[in-house]
Amino acid sequence: MGLKINCCFFLLMIFSFASLRAQKCGTTVSAEYMRTHYNQVSSLTYQAHDTCLNKKLSIVFHVVLDSSNNPGVTPATLTTCVNNLNNYFKRICITFMNCSTNFIPNYNYNQWNGPIHEPMVFPNYYVDSTINIYVVQSIVAPGNIGGYAYMPGGPDVIVLQKANLTDLTAVHEMGHFFGLPHTFETIGGSELVNESNCATSGDGFCDTEADPHPAGENNNEPCSFTYGPQDANGNYYTPPVDNIMTYYKNCRCRFTQQQYNHMAFMYYTIRNYLH
Ligand SMILES: [Zn+2]
Repeated sequence: MGLKINCCFFLLMIFSFASLRAQKCGTTVSAEYMRTHYNQVSSLTYQAHDTCLNKKLSIVFHVVLDSSNNPGVTPATLTTCVNNLNNYFKRICITFMNCSTNFIPNYNYNQWNGPIHEPMVFPNYYVDSTINIYVVQSIVAPGNIGGYAYMPGGPDVIVLQKANLTDLTAVHEMGHFFGLPHTFETIGGSELVNESNCATSGDGFCDTEADPHPAGENNNEPCSFTYGPQDANGNYYTPPVDNIMTYYKNCRCRFTQQQYNHMAFMYYTIRNYLH
């Protein structure tokens, strides 16, 4: 684990301040989605190397203005967000571009309530076949979170808090957008440390260590995890605290090979209409 953390030290330096403020995510991964996901992952033999999609995908930012008509973010902030995404997705040759920035002149949406505001905002501010990122002051529903995304098959939407634009929240949500569950997500019972049930429990990927979250979570620890929780065999969990799709703060800095290849697969099979 120490080696993995060292490999990410440079990125950690960049993001450590911002990630201290990182909040949890509100992306919903349904049991139905997970059933399909396990079937997809187990029926595929992912290539041992990264797929290169060679795609440029457009992002449209929709920034909600405050009561004084100020955006609360600068163009440089949006550029940093796009650069972070490009840094993490270059391994599968996806480049994101800030296609355009819209401003939504209704400050009521700055306290974003997804179930209420989505049907009011999406019909007026949504660009087909692009990745629509809504930028708001805070997200009050679903939950007190930094952001959320729709999994493949849903609308092409990510919602982010302004304060989380330059940390790894956008990268985490883009992981969901291209089909990744959280590392701890499971409908197949607890994933075992020896990975013997890795394809039918946890996130379905066998190169992400079993993650018992929320067991062991401790934000006073450097990587937000206290070692001690054991699986059904009595083995101690060593969760992938450096993985982007965890809830462990401060040490997140990587996707695994299977995660990258699955994101490429989900682009090819579901979100291939994006341009
Ligand atoms: Zn998430």
